[in-house]
Amino acid sequence: TEFAALDAQIEAAEAAEEAALGQPVLAVVGRPNVGKSTLVNRILGRREAVVQDVPGVTRDRVAYDAYWGGRKFTLVDTGGWEPDATGLQASVAAQAELAMQTADAVLLVIDATVGATATDEAVSKVLRRSKKPVLLAANKVDDDRLLADTASLWSLGLGEPHPVSALHGRSSGDLLDAILKALPEAPREGGGVSTGPRRVALVGKPNVGKSSLLNKLSGEERSVVDSVAGTTVDPVDSLVELDGETWRFVDTAGLRKRVNFAAGAEYYASLRTKTAIDAAEVAIVLLDAAEPISEQDLRVLTMVVEAGRACVLAFNKWDLVDEDRRHAMVRELERGLVRVPWAEKVNVSALTGRSVRKIAPALRTALASWDQRVPTGQLNAWLSDLIAATPPPVRGGKQPKVLFATQAGIRPPTLVLFTTGFLEAGYRRFIERKFREQFGFAGSPVRVNVRVRE
Ligand code: GDP
Ligand code: GDP
Repeated sequence: TEFAALDAQIEAAEAAEEAALGQPVLAVVGRPNVGKSTLVNRILGRREAVVQDVPGVTRDRVAYDAYWGGRKFTLVDTGGWEPDATGLQASVAAQAELAMQTADAVLLVIDATVGATATDEAVSKVLRRSKKPVLLAANKVDDDRLLADTASLWSLGLGEPHPVSALHGRSSGDLLDAILKALPEAPREGGGVSTGPRRVALVGKPNVGKSSLLNKLSGEERSVVDSVAGTTVDPVDSLVELDGETWRFVDTAGLRKRVNFAAGAEYYASLRTKTAIDAAEVAIVLLDAAEPISEQDLRVLTMVVEAGRACVLAFNKWDLVDEDRRHAMVRELERGLVRVPWAEKVNVSALTGRSVRKIAPALRTALASWDQRVPTGQLNAWLSDLIAATPPPVRGGKQPKVLFATQAGIRPPTLVLFTTGFLEAGYRRFIERKFREQFGFAGSPVRVNVRVRE
Protein backbone atom coordinates (compact mmCIF):
# COMPACT_ATOMS: atom_id res chain seq x y z
CA THR A 1 0.00 0.00 0.00
CA GLU A 2 1.03 3.63 0.25
CA PHE A 3 3.26 3.05 3.24
CA ALA A 4 5.09 0.13 1.69
CA ALA A 5 7.58 2.41 -0.06
CA LEU A 6 8.20 4.25 3.17
CA ASP A 7 8.77 1.01 5.05
CA ALA A 8 11.22 -0.16 2.41
CA GLN A 9 13.19 3.06 2.75
CA ILE A 10 13.31 2.74 6.50
CA GLU A 11 14.51 -0.85 6.26
CA ALA A 12 17.26 0.09 3.83
CA ALA A 13 18.45 2.84 6.15
CA GLU A 14 18.52 0.44 9.07
CA ALA A 15 20.46 -2.16 7.13
CA ALA A 16 23.06 0.44 6.20
CA GLU A 17 23.36 1.41 9.82
CA GLU A 18 23.76 -2.18 11.01
CA ALA A 19 26.64 -2.50 8.57
CA ALA A 20 28.42 0.53 9.97
CA LEU A 21 29.59 -0.95 13.21
CA GLY A 22 32.09 1.72 14.07
CA GLN A 23 35.79 1.60 14.65
CA PRO A 24 37.78 -1.60 14.05
CA VAL A 25 38.63 -3.89 16.96
CA LEU A 26 42.04 -5.26 17.91
CA ALA A 27 42.14 -8.05 20.50
CA VAL A 28 45.33 -8.70 22.47
CA VAL A 29 45.86 -12.34 23.49
CA GLY A 30 48.61 -14.29 25.18
CA ARG A 31 49.60 -16.14 28.34
CA PRO A 32 49.35 -14.37 31.68
CA ASN A 33 52.39 -12.23 32.59
CA VAL A 34 53.74 -11.80 29.07
CA GLY A 35 52.95 -8.09 29.37
CA LYS A 36 49.57 -7.74 27.61
CA SER A 37 48.28 -5.08 30.01
CA THR A 38 51.56 -3.22 29.97
CA LEU A 39 51.41 -3.21 26.19
CA VAL A 40 47.78 -2.09 26.20
CA ASN A 41 48.76 0.79 28.48
CA ARG A 42 51.66 1.63 26.24
CA ILE A 43 49.40 1.74 23.20
CA LEU A 44 46.87 3.85 25.08
CA GLY A 45 49.69 6.14 26.14
CA ARG A 46 48.92 5.92 29.82
CA ARG A 47 49.45 3.69 32.80
CA GLU A 48 46.11 3.66 34.49
CA ALA A 49 44.76 0.29 33.31
CA VAL A 50 45.36 -2.33 35.94
CA VAL A 51 48.63 -4.22 35.73
CA GLN A 52 48.95 -7.19 38.04
CA ASP A 53 51.97 -9.27 38.85
CA VAL A 54 49.75 -12.17 39.82
CA PRO A 55 49.19 -14.45 36.83
CA GLY A 56 45.61 -14.95 35.73
CA VAL A 57 44.18 -12.05 37.69
CA THR A 58 40.81 -10.95 36.40
CA ARG A 59 40.52 -7.40 35.21
CA ASP A 60 37.20 -5.70 35.27
CA ARG A 61 37.83 -3.45 32.32
CA VAL A 62 38.54 -4.96 28.98
CA ALA A 63 38.07 -2.50 26.16
CA TYR A 64 39.44 0.95 25.42
CA ASP A 65 39.54 3.59 22.70
CA ALA A 66 42.98 3.78 21.08
CA TYR A 67 44.37 6.40 18.70
CA TRP A 68 47.43 6.17 16.53
CA GLY A 69 48.44 7.96 13.36
CA GLY A 70 45.17 9.86 13.25
CA ARG A 71 43.12 6.68 13.35
CA LYS A 72 40.91 5.24 16.03
CA PHE A 73 40.36 1.66 17.02
CA THR A 74 39.01 -0.35 19.93
CA LEU A 75 41.64 -2.18 21.92
CA VAL A 76 40.53 -5.27 23.81
CA ASP A 77 42.55 -6.90 26.57
CA THR A 78 41.25 -10.47 26.62
CA GLY A 79 42.74 -10.95 30.08
CA GLY A 80 39.36 -9.90 31.45
CA TRP A 81 37.36 -12.54 29.61
CA GLU A 82 37.72 -15.39 32.10
CA PRO A 83 36.97 -18.31 29.80
CA ASP A 84 35.48 -21.31 31.60
CA ALA A 85 37.99 -23.75 30.18
CA THR A 86 40.22 -25.46 32.72
CA GLY A 87 43.98 -25.35 32.44
CA LEU A 88 46.13 -22.57 31.15
CA GLN A 89 46.56 -23.90 27.64
CA ALA A 90 42.86 -24.49 27.06
CA SER A 91 42.03 -21.16 28.64
CA VAL A 92 44.38 -19.12 26.46
CA ALA A 93 43.29 -21.08 23.38
CA ALA A 94 39.65 -20.30 24.19
CA GLN A 95 40.52 -16.62 24.48
CA ALA A 96 42.25 -16.71 21.11
CA GLU A 97 39.21 -18.40 19.61
CA LEU A 98 36.88 -15.69 20.92
CA ALA A 99 39.28 -12.98 19.84
CA MET A 100 39.35 -14.36 16.32
CA GLN A 101 35.57 -14.43 16.15
CA THR A 102 35.06 -11.00 17.61
CA ALA A 103 37.89 -8.74 16.56
CA ASP A 104 39.02 -7.46 13.19
CA ALA A 105 42.65 -8.34 13.96
CA VAL A 106 44.45 -10.22 16.74
CA LEU A 107 47.74 -9.43 18.43
CA LEU A 108 49.48 -12.37 20.07
CA VAL A 109 51.99 -11.37 22.72
CA ILE A 110 54.92 -13.66 23.60
CA ASP A 111 57.49 -13.18 26.35
CA ALA A 112 60.79 -13.06 24.46
CA THR A 113 62.79 -13.68 27.63
CA VAL A 114 61.10 -17.07 27.90
CA GLY A 115 60.68 -17.88 24.19
CA ALA A 116 57.79 -19.83 22.67
CA THR A 117 56.23 -22.18 25.21
CA ALA A 118 53.92 -25.13 24.53
CA THR A 119 50.97 -22.84 25.29
CA ASP A 120 52.21 -20.23 22.82
CA GLU A 121 52.50 -22.94 20.18
CA ALA A 122 48.99 -24.24 20.88
CA VAL A 123 47.55 -20.73 20.62
CA SER A 124 49.47 -20.05 17.43
CA LYS A 125 47.96 -23.19 15.95
CA VAL A 126 44.47 -21.82 16.72
CA LEU A 127 45.35 -18.41 15.30
CA ARG A 128 46.82 -19.82 12.09
CA ARG A 129 43.26 -20.84 11.15
CA SER A 130 42.15 -17.20 11.42
CA LYS A 131 40.80 -15.50 8.33
CA LYS A 132 41.61 -12.19 9.99
CA PRO A 133 45.06 -10.65 10.29
CA VAL A 134 47.21 -11.87 13.19
CA LEU A 135 50.24 -9.99 14.46
CA LEU A 136 52.96 -11.36 16.68
CA ALA A 137 54.66 -9.24 19.33
CA ALA A 138 57.81 -10.48 21.06
CA ASN A 139 57.66 -8.51 24.29
CA LYS A 140 60.26 -7.67 26.95
CA VAL A 141 62.95 -7.01 24.34
CA ASP A 142 64.36 -4.26 26.56
CA ASP A 143 67.73 -4.15 24.79
CA ASP A 144 69.59 -5.51 21.76
CA ARG A 145 70.76 -8.69 23.45
CA LEU A 146 67.40 -10.42 22.96
CA LEU A 147 66.89 -9.21 19.42
CA ALA A 148 68.58 -12.18 17.74
CA ASP A 149 66.45 -14.67 19.70
CA THR A 150 63.19 -13.20 18.44
CA ALA A 151 63.93 -14.49 14.94
CA SER A 152 63.24 -18.02 16.21
CA LEU A 153 59.58 -16.99 16.68
CA TRP A 154 59.07 -17.18 12.92
CA SER A 155 58.59 -20.90 13.64
CA LEU A 156 55.14 -20.12 15.13
CA GLY A 157 53.89 -19.61 11.57
CA LEU A 158 52.36 -16.19 12.26
CA GLY A 159 54.70 -14.18 10.12
CA GLU A 160 57.22 -11.61 11.26
CA PRO A 161 57.73 -11.28 15.01
CA HIS A 162 57.71 -7.62 16.13
CA PRO A 163 60.22 -7.14 18.96
CA VAL A 164 58.99 -4.60 21.53
CA SER A 165 59.47 -3.52 25.08
CA ALA A 166 56.07 -2.61 26.48
CA LEU A 167 57.74 -1.43 29.65
CA HIS A 168 60.15 1.01 28.01
CA GLY A 169 58.24 1.72 24.82
CA ARG A 170 60.97 0.41 22.57
CA SER A 171 59.68 -0.16 18.99
CA SER A 172 56.06 0.12 20.05
CA GLY A 173 55.55 2.77 17.33
CA ASP A 174 56.62 0.27 14.66
CA LEU A 175 54.22 -2.30 16.07
CA LEU A 176 51.38 0.22 15.99
CA ASP A 177 52.13 1.06 12.38
CA ALA A 178 51.88 -2.65 11.54
CA ILE A 179 48.62 -2.91 13.50
CA LEU A 180 47.07 -0.01 11.59
CA LYS A 181 48.05 -1.61 8.30
CA ALA A 182 46.28 -4.80 9.33
CA LEU A 183 43.06 -3.16 10.55
CA PRO A 184 40.22 -2.24 8.19
CA GLU A 185 39.40 1.46 7.77
CA ALA A 186 36.74 2.73 10.16
CA PRO A 187 33.45 3.59 8.45
CA ARG A 188 32.54 7.22 8.50
CA GLU A 189 30.13 8.42 11.13
CA GLY A 190 26.45 8.72 10.23
CA GLY A 191 24.52 11.97 10.40
CA GLY A 192 27.25 13.99 8.76
CA VAL A 193 29.21 16.82 10.26
CA SER A 194 26.98 19.64 11.28
CA THR A 195 27.95 23.00 9.91
CA GLY A 196 25.91 26.13 10.23
CA PRO A 197 22.63 26.31 12.12
CA ARG A 198 21.27 23.08 13.51
CA ARG A 199 18.49 21.59 11.43
CA VAL A 200 15.02 21.18 12.89
CA ALA A 201 11.98 19.43 11.43
CA LEU A 202 8.60 20.65 12.64
CA VAL A 203 6.25 17.74 12.10
CA GLY A 204 2.84 16.45 13.16
CA LYS A 205 -0.53 15.54 11.76
CA PRO A 206 -2.58 18.10 9.78
CA ASN A 207 -4.18 20.84 11.89
CA VAL A 208 -2.08 20.19 14.96
CA GLY A 209 -0.69 23.73 14.70
CA LYS A 210 2.60 23.51 12.78
CA SER A 211 2.09 26.71 10.75
CA SER A 212 0.81 28.55 13.80
CA LEU A 213 3.83 27.52 15.84
CA LEU A 214 6.26 28.42 13.07
CA ASN A 215 4.63 31.83 12.77
CA LYS A 216 4.75 32.31 16.50
CA LEU A 217 8.39 31.32 16.71
CA SER A 218 9.32 33.56 13.78
CA GLY A 219 7.19 36.41 15.03
CA GLU A 220 8.11 36.46 18.68
CA GLU A 221 11.76 36.68 17.97
CA ARG A 222 13.39 38.53 15.16
CA SER A 223 13.11 36.20 12.23
CA VAL A 224 15.34 36.10 9.24
CA VAL A 225 13.75 34.18 6.46
CA ASP A 226 16.15 33.11 3.89
CA SER A 227 15.03 31.67 0.60
CA VAL A 228 17.47 28.91 0.00
CA ALA A 229 17.13 27.57 -3.53
CA GLY A 230 15.48 24.23 -3.14
CA THR A 231 16.55 20.83 -4.25
CA THR A 232 13.86 18.80 -5.99
CA VAL A 233 10.34 19.89 -5.06
CA ASP A 234 11.35 23.43 -4.22
CA PRO A 235 11.51 23.09 -0.47
CA VAL A 236 12.45 26.20 1.35
CA ASP A 237 13.98 26.28 4.79
CA SER A 238 13.36 29.01 7.33
CA LEU A 239 16.08 30.45 9.49
CA VAL A 240 14.59 31.29 12.86
CA GLU A 241 16.32 32.92 15.77
CA LEU A 242 15.36 31.41 19.12
CA ASP A 243 16.98 32.08 22.44
CA GLY A 244 19.99 33.81 20.89
CA GLU A 245 20.70 31.05 18.40
CA THR A 246 19.79 30.64 14.74
CA TRP A 247 18.06 27.39 13.78
CA ARG A 248 17.26 26.06 10.36
CA PHE A 249 13.69 24.82 10.18
CA VAL A 250 13.87 22.47 7.23
CA ASP A 251 11.34 22.06 4.47
CA THR A 252 8.86 24.57 5.83
CA ALA A 253 7.57 25.78 2.45
CA GLY A 254 4.93 23.05 2.52
CA LEU A 255 3.59 24.54 5.71
CA ARG A 256 2.77 27.82 4.05
CA LYS A 257 1.51 26.67 0.69
CA ARG A 258 -1.25 24.33 1.58
CA VAL A 259 -1.16 22.07 -1.40
CA ASN A 260 -3.90 19.51 -1.26
CA PHE A 261 -3.86 16.58 -3.56
CA ALA A 262 -7.32 15.27 -4.32
CA ALA A 263 -6.10 11.72 -4.12
CA GLY A 264 -3.35 10.43 -1.85
CA ALA A 265 -3.14 13.61 0.20
CA GLU A 266 -2.21 11.63 3.25
CA TYR A 267 0.50 9.79 1.38
CA TYR A 268 2.09 13.00 0.13
CA ALA A 269 1.87 14.60 3.55
CA SER A 270 3.60 11.59 5.03
CA LEU A 271 6.28 11.63 2.38
CA ARG A 272 6.93 15.30 3.08
CA THR A 273 7.18 14.55 6.79
CA LYS A 274 9.70 11.82 6.05
CA THR A 275 11.77 14.15 3.85
CA ALA A 276 11.84 16.83 6.53
CA ILE A 277 12.84 14.35 9.25
CA ASP A 278 15.65 12.94 7.11
CA ALA A 279 16.98 16.43 6.41
CA ALA A 280 16.90 17.37 10.10
CA GLU A 281 19.01 16.56 13.13
CA VAL A 282 16.19 17.03 15.61
CA ALA A 283 12.44 16.82 15.18
CA ILE A 284 9.77 18.76 17.05
CA VAL A 285 6.81 16.40 16.98
CA LEU A 286 3.70 18.45 17.56
CA LEU A 287 0.83 16.67 19.33
CA ASP A 288 -2.63 17.96 20.16
CA ALA A 289 -2.81 18.07 23.94
CA ALA A 290 -6.60 18.23 23.85
CA GLU A 291 -6.96 14.92 22.01
CA PRO A 292 -5.83 11.36 22.62
CA ILE A 293 -2.71 10.17 20.77
CA SER A 294 -3.76 8.97 17.32
CA GLU A 295 -2.41 6.43 14.85
CA GLN A 296 -1.15 9.31 12.75
CA ASP A 297 0.79 10.76 15.68
CA LEU A 298 2.42 7.41 16.31
CA ARG A 299 3.32 7.06 12.65
CA VAL A 300 5.18 10.39 12.74
CA LEU A 301 6.93 9.41 15.96
CA THR A 302 7.97 6.08 14.49
CA MET A 303 9.51 7.89 11.54
CA VAL A 304 11.60 10.04 13.89
CA VAL A 305 12.77 7.07 15.92
CA GLU A 306 13.55 4.92 12.88
CA ALA A 307 15.44 7.78 11.25
CA GLY A 308 17.45 8.05 14.46
CA ARG A 309 16.79 11.74 15.01
CA ALA A 310 16.71 13.58 18.32
CA CYS A 311 13.16 14.31 19.44
CA VAL A 312 11.21 16.98 21.26
CA LEU A 313 7.52 16.33 21.88
CA ALA A 314 5.54 19.55 21.96
CA PHE A 315 2.01 19.26 23.29
CA ASN A 316 0.21 22.06 21.53
CA LYS A 317 -3.18 23.68 22.19
CA TRP A 318 -2.50 23.49 25.89
CA ASP A 319 -4.89 26.47 26.23
CA LEU A 320 -7.75 24.10 25.37
CA VAL A 321 -6.98 21.72 28.22
CA ASP A 322 -9.11 22.42 31.31
CA GLU A 323 -7.27 23.24 34.47
CA ASP A 324 -8.83 20.29 36.31
CA ARG A 325 -8.23 17.83 33.49
CA ARG A 326 -4.53 18.56 33.06
CA HIS A 327 -3.29 15.89 35.39
CA ALA A 328 -5.35 13.14 33.81
CA MET A 329 -4.41 14.42 30.36
CA VAL A 330 -0.68 14.15 31.02
CA ARG A 331 -1.07 10.59 32.32
CA GLU A 332 -3.11 9.59 29.30
CA LEU A 333 -0.61 11.12 26.90
CA GLU A 334 2.26 9.31 28.59
CA ARG A 335 0.44 6.00 28.26
CA GLY A 336 0.19 6.62 24.54
CA LEU A 337 3.88 7.40 24.29
CA VAL A 338 5.52 4.41 25.94
CA ARG A 339 7.77 3.96 22.92
CA VAL A 340 9.54 7.25 23.55
CA PRO A 341 9.77 7.72 27.33
CA TRP A 342 13.13 9.43 26.70
CA ALA A 343 11.82 12.26 24.49
CA GLU A 344 12.10 15.84 25.69
CA LYS A 345 8.65 17.24 26.41
CA VAL A 346 7.17 20.75 26.43
CA ASN A 347 3.59 21.96 26.83
CA VAL A 348 2.87 24.90 24.56
CA SER A 349 0.20 26.94 22.93
CA ALA A 350 0.99 28.28 19.48
CA LEU A 351 -2.11 30.48 19.82
CA THR A 352 -1.27 32.25 23.06
CA GLY A 353 2.50 31.80 22.90
CA ARG A 354 2.51 29.92 26.19
CA SER A 355 5.88 28.32 26.93
CA VAL A 356 7.14 28.49 23.36
CA ARG A 357 10.37 29.82 24.75
CA LYS A 358 10.96 26.44 26.36
CA ILE A 359 11.39 24.91 22.93
CA ALA A 360 14.96 26.08 22.28
CA PRO A 361 16.38 24.67 25.56
CA ALA A 362 14.62 21.36 24.85
CA LEU A 363 16.16 21.26 21.37
CA ARG A 364 19.61 21.90 22.85
CA THR A 365 19.25 19.13 25.42
CA ALA A 366 18.11 16.64 22.78
CA LEU A 367 20.94 17.55 20.41
CA ALA A 368 23.57 17.36 23.16
CA SER A 369 22.39 13.78 23.85
CA TRP A 370 22.41 12.98 20.16
CA ASP A 371 26.05 14.08 19.96
CA GLN A 372 27.15 12.40 23.18
CA ARG A 373 29.72 9.60 23.33
CA VAL A 374 30.68 7.44 26.28
CA PRO A 375 34.35 6.42 26.18
CA THR A 376 34.90 2.69 25.73
CA GLY A 377 36.77 2.20 29.03
CA GLN A 378 34.02 3.89 31.04
CA LEU A 379 31.32 1.99 29.15
CA ASN A 380 32.87 -1.38 29.89
CA ALA A 381 33.51 -0.65 33.55
CA TRP A 382 29.78 0.06 33.89
CA LEU A 383 28.67 -2.82 31.67
CA SER A 384 30.69 -5.52 33.41
CA ASP A 385 29.03 -4.61 36.73
CA LEU A 386 25.59 -4.60 35.16
CA ILE A 387 26.07 -7.97 33.51
CA ALA A 388 27.58 -9.54 36.61
CA ALA A 389 24.45 -8.47 38.52
CA THR A 390 21.95 -9.40 35.79
CA PRO A 391 23.37 -11.80 33.19
CA PRO A 392 21.55 -12.30 29.89
CA PRO A 393 18.88 -15.01 29.97
CA VAL A 394 19.93 -18.52 29.01
CA ARG A 395 18.86 -19.58 25.53
CA GLY A 396 18.81 -23.19 24.38
CA GLY A 397 20.73 -24.21 27.48
CA LYS A 398 23.50 -21.72 26.71
CA GLN A 399 24.44 -18.60 28.59
CA PRO A 400 25.35 -15.90 26.07
CA LYS A 401 28.36 -13.88 27.20
CA VAL A 402 28.82 -10.20 26.60
CA LEU A 403 32.56 -9.83 26.02
CA PHE A 404 32.77 -6.08 25.67
CA ALA A 405 31.00 -3.11 24.15
CA THR A 406 31.79 0.10 22.33
CA GLN A 407 29.73 3.10 21.47
CA ALA A 408 30.28 2.71 17.77
CA GLY A 409 28.59 5.91 16.76
CA ILE A 410 26.77 9.10 17.60
CA ARG A 411 23.88 10.79 15.81
CA PRO A 412 22.20 8.65 17.00
CA PRO A 413 24.26 7.10 19.80
CA THR A 414 24.76 3.45 18.87
CA LEU A 415 26.10 0.76 21.16
CA VAL A 416 27.58 -2.43 19.81
CA LEU A 417 27.74 -5.38 22.19
CA PHE A 418 30.18 -8.13 21.24
CA THR A 419 28.72 -11.40 22.45
CA THR A 420 29.03 -15.14 22.16
CA GLY A 421 25.32 -15.59 21.57
CA PHE A 422 22.07 -13.94 20.63
CA LEU A 423 20.61 -11.43 23.09
CA GLU A 424 16.86 -11.20 23.12
CA ALA A 425 15.08 -7.90 22.52
CA GLY A 426 13.94 -7.70 26.14
CA TYR A 427 17.52 -7.87 27.40
CA ARG A 428 18.66 -5.26 24.87
CA ARG A 429 15.92 -2.95 26.13
CA PHE A 430 17.05 -3.61 29.68
CA ILE A 431 20.58 -2.58 28.71
CA GLU A 432 19.29 0.54 26.98
CA ARG A 433 17.24 1.49 30.04
CA LYS A 434 20.17 1.02 32.42
CA PHE A 435 22.49 2.83 30.00
CA ARG A 436 20.16 5.83 30.06
CA GLU A 437 19.91 5.70 33.86
CA GLN A 438 23.69 5.85 34.05
CA PHE A 439 24.61 8.20 31.23
CA GLY A 440 21.49 10.24 30.43
CA PHE A 441 20.81 10.74 26.71
CA ALA A 442 17.51 12.58 27.23
CA GLY A 443 15.88 13.49 23.94
CA SER A 444 17.87 11.10 21.77
CA PRO A 445 17.16 7.59 20.58
CA VAL A 446 19.83 5.06 21.56
CA ARG A 447 20.50 1.99 19.42
CA VAL A 448 21.74 -1.26 20.88
CA ASN A 449 23.22 -3.57 18.26
CA VAL A 450 24.68 -6.97 18.90
CA ARG A 451 27.60 -8.48 17.06
CA VAL A 452 27.52 -12.25 17.47
CA ARG A 453 30.13 -14.48 15.96
CA GLU A 454 29.79 -18.18 16.57
P1 GDP B 1 49.70 -9.72 31.36
O1 GDP B 1 49.32 -10.68 32.42
O2 GDP B 1 50.05 -10.40 30.09
O3 GDP B 1 48.70 -8.62 31.16
O4 GDP B 1 51.10 -9.03 31.83
P2 GDP B 1 51.35 -7.65 32.58
O5 GDP B 1 51.20 -6.50 31.65
O6 GDP B 1 50.56 -7.66 33.84
O7 GDP B 1 52.90 -7.77 32.87
C1 GDP B 1 53.44 -8.83 33.64
C2 GDP B 1 54.80 -8.38 34.20
O8 GDP B 1 55.74 -8.22 33.13
C3 GDP B 1 54.75 -7.07 34.93
O9 GDP B 1 55.57 -7.14 36.07
C4 GDP B 1 55.34 -6.09 33.94
O10 GDP B 1 55.96 -5.00 34.55
C5 GDP B 1 56.34 -6.94 33.19
N1 GDP B 1 56.61 -6.45 31.83
C6 GDP B 1 55.67 -6.10 30.90
N2 GDP B 1 56.28 -5.67 29.78
C7 GDP B 1 57.62 -5.73 29.99
C8 GDP B 1 58.77 -5.41 29.19
O11 GDP B 1 58.69 -4.96 28.05
N3 GDP B 1 59.98 -5.62 29.75
C9 GDP B 1 60.11 -6.10 31.00
N4 GDP B 1 61.33 -6.28 31.46
N5 GDP B 1 59.06 -6.41 31.80
C10 GDP B 1 57.82 -6.23 31.30
P1 GDP C 1 -1.04 22.70 10.70
O1 GDP C 1 -1.95 22.06 9.72
O2 GDP C 1 -0.37 21.70 11.59
O3 GDP C 1 -0.07 23.67 10.10
O4 GDP C 1 -1.98 23.54 11.70
P2 GDP C 1 -2.33 25.10 11.75
O5 GDP C 1 -1.20 25.87 12.30
O6 GDP C 1 -2.86 25.51 10.44
O7 GDP C 1 -3.47 25.10 12.84
C1 GDP C 1 -4.71 24.43 12.66
C2 GDP C 1 -5.76 25.10 13.51
O8 GDP C 1 -5.46 24.96 14.89
C3 GDP C 1 -5.86 26.59 13.25
O9 GDP C 1 -7.23 26.95 13.28
C4 GDP C 1 -5.12 27.23 14.41
O10 GDP C 1 -5.59 28.50 14.74
C5 GDP C 1 -5.41 26.24 15.52
N1 GDP C 1 -4.36 26.24 16.55
C6 GDP C 1 -3.03 26.11 16.35
N2 GDP C 1 -2.38 26.15 17.53
C7 GDP C 1 -3.30 26.31 18.49
C8 GDP C 1 -3.25 26.42 19.92
O11 GDP C 1 -2.20 26.37 20.57
N3 GDP C 1 -4.43 26.57 20.58
C9 GDP C 1 -5.62 26.63 19.91
N4 GDP C 1 -6.70 26.76 20.64
N5 GDP C 1 -5.70 26.52 18.58
C10 GDP C 1 -4.57 26.37 17.86
